[in-house]
Amino acid sequence: MFRQDIKTRVLEDGRAEIVDPDIEMLPLLRSINPEFRIRRARLKNFSKPRLMSTKAHIHPLNRHDISERSTAELWTIHDAALNNGSSAPARGEVTLLDLKIELARREIQECRLCGRGCGVDRLSGVRGHCGLGADAKVGECFVHIAEEAPVNPSINVNLRGCGLKCRFCQKHELLDPDGPSHPLDSFLWNHLRSKAARSISFIGGNPDESIYAILRFLTDTPTEFGKPIVWNSNGYGSRTVYKLLNGIVDAYIPDMKFFGKTCSRELAGCDNYLEMFTSGIEEIVEQDVPVLVRMLVLPGHMECCNLPLIAYLAKYRRKVMLNIMGQYYPDYKLSDRDSVLNRRPSHSEIEYLLSYAENLGGREWLISYMKTGMGSDKTEEAITI
Ligand code: SF4
Repeated sequence: MFRQDIKTRVLEDGRAEIVDPDIEMLPLLRSINPEFRIRRARLKNFSKPRLMSTKAHIHPLNRHDISERSTAELWTIHDAALNNGSSAPARGEVTLLDLKIELARREIQECRLCGRGCGVDRLSGVRGHCGLGADAKVGECFVHIAEEAPVNPSINVNLRGCGLKCRFCQKHELLDPDGPSHPLDSFLWNHLRSKAARSISFIGGNPDESIYAILRFLTDTPTEFGKPIVWNSNGYGSRTVYKLLNGIVDAYIPDMKFFGKTCSRELAGCDNYLEMFTSGIEEIVEQDVPVLVRMLVLPGHMECCNLPLIAYLAKYRRKVMLNIMGQYYPDYKLSDRDSVLNRRPSHSEIEYLLSYAENLGGREWLISYMKTGMGSDKTEEAITI
């Protein structure tokens, strides 16, 4: 496993915090707090990777056909294959995964994988807002003690690059696509076998931008591979990304960041965050896999973002779960004009949002109230000295 660095902070009340602890830190965490436990919880439909049947689904096309067909025809074949399942093995040499790879390859030739819609040909080396070419760069890979008990612990494959680049990014070390990295190639499978992990998470930076490279990487999945795949993204991906991930991903963990255009413009330089987020949610709730939405509470954004976002999401409360996260820390490119963001959200703000969400949809859709194994919230456990 490899990491760029491990962030620690001393908080105002004198406690120390280890950001994103990994499984190798368990002895340290337990020496600080002997009660420390990794939170785990059951999750319906989250045990075996759907990827393996997508790889096994053979379509009666040959490789020459695939390059001759129009993109519209390939999407029709792709959608029909997903709807029909893998019940009828056919003679052919093209799998559903191959179809997805070809569609993703065409997509990055005029790239609109995220809300930036750059339209550049990344395959020929032109770079858009994310700065990525056709290949993925792995900045870090480690077994993470995750925020979401249902996927915990998870091997994080932290990819470099992001199309959104919020000014308060909590993982800005990975935004530079040209920073230190490993290629996403078969070498990585040695790490992904870790018995300590329950799942594998593609995260970043942001993974959407690297979908073409990730799908290619997954063609080499070892036959004994058995861990479900998690897609942990910024909520700014295009519907095309989510369609390509249907049949690959076993749980989605999208961020839910901004409701108002003024906020998304100020903090991420885009007007269309809400449009992209809602369109993505509409697509993934139909895929019959767990959707765990993350909302990192931004101080000072209660009325404009947090409350209306929760109210929007509550209409899907039977299909999604919500994680209201209080670990925001002022970071990256914040300046004096962002004074409202220059603090952590207060305990009472988090409590208020939790009770608001509970009033709208009950406790069942809130990850904070999930029945878990031993231990309380990870951040509380990790920081007591
Ligand atoms: S992934 Fe997004 S930011 Fe990157 S080139 Fe494509 S549209 Fe632009």
